Amino acid sequence: MSPASCEHLMNPSAKPLIDSYGRVHNNLRISVTDRCNIRCVYCMPENPVFLPRNQLLSFEEIERFVRIVVPLGIDKIRLTGGEPLVRRELPVLIEKLAAIPGIKDIGLTTNGILLAPLAKALWNAGLRRINVSLDTMDPDRFQQLARRPGFEQVIEGILAAKAAGFDPVKINAVAMKGCTEEDIVPLAKFAREHGLEVRFIEYMPLDGGLWEREKVLFAADILDRLTLEIGPLVPSPDQDPRAPAIDYDFVDGGGRIGMIASVSRPFCMSCNRVRLTSDGKLRNCLFSLEETDIRGLLRGGAGDEEIVRAIRESVASKWEGHEINTARFIQPERLMHSIGG
Ligand code: SAM
Ligand code: SF4
Repeated sequence: MSPASCEHLMNPSAKPLIDSYGRVHNNLRISVTDRCNIRCVYCMPENPVFLPRNQLLSFEEIERFVRIVVPLGIDKIRLTGGEPLVRRELPVLIEKLAAIPGIKDIGLTTNGILLAPLAKALWNAGLRRINVSLDTMDPDRFQQLARRPGFEQVIEGILAAKAAGFDPVKINAVAMKGCTEEDIVPLAKFAREHGLEVRFIEYMPLDGGLWEREKVLFAADILDRLTLEIGPLVPSPDQDPRAPAIDYDFVDGGGRIGMIASVSRPFCMSCNRVRLTSDGKLRNCLFSLEETDIRGLLRGGAGDEEIVRAIRESVASKWEGHEINTARFIQPERLMHSIGG
């Protein structure tokens, strides 16, 4: 055994974050704001009530939290929101986080509207992974789904991210039955043309009540449509078993497609994620009904050990899975934009 793997025996605070099902957590999603410059129907209402700014964690508070969780095994971070690029000076936060020894990977999920002018600064700050959300190649449908214009800026943002060096740029597309079927093939073609990876995400119940199972466009149906209209796909040989997406490659070498089948094929048993909301609540699951008040601890003068204890308790109490497919499922009060997807 290498000395590194014995570290937790000598230093108990270095024990990894393991829950009662044996899942090890190395992945932290940090929401930097609940605000957004658009209003996607599956994520937030037309007139959301946003948090007052003083309730958001400061960059210093986020940095302290990350420094506390790195010795617990967190080495992968994704910044999200709300729309993370509406948070002022985001590259400054990225620089702070990238400088923390032990952080191996920082990603960002954005709607892309503000991305074009920021792409280079994000890259220079140390960001290396970027996912841009785009559900359709039809500007009218974009406006219907987002309840705001912005299609052209998103496309510019994607191309600017590529030009800045991000490779691959991943496209996240929420798939809704009776709504985005006709978008599947044009999105895949756009991705093939520009060397992007598109990941289709099954619509999840985090929108405050619009969701119904009948409105989910399932991964299997998306795969069938792509196979029929573009060509055969095979499972990618280099799958990451802990990643939420199952990847497929076009047999003709024309690129990669991911399926995030949260509803039809939940991946809870391989979940390695915890989430910190923009107001500093730790959630051990996207669908959690309970949260741990990290901001209260940070602002109340708690020492690192007390915060570590709270984090460990939260992870230890993680449930087996989200139960979307059962009658027991309860939709969390927080909507997607206020959790951080
Ligand atoms: N504003 C950024 C964006 O849209 O990329 C980051 C936050 S958004 C909440 C993160 C991801 O969650 C996006 O890819 C979005 O499409 C996805 N999302 C939002 N609501 C969803 C839902 N009800 N079901 C599935 N995915 C959802
Ligand atoms: Fe904003 Fe992202 Fe939610 Fe759309 S999915 S409303 S872009 S936070």
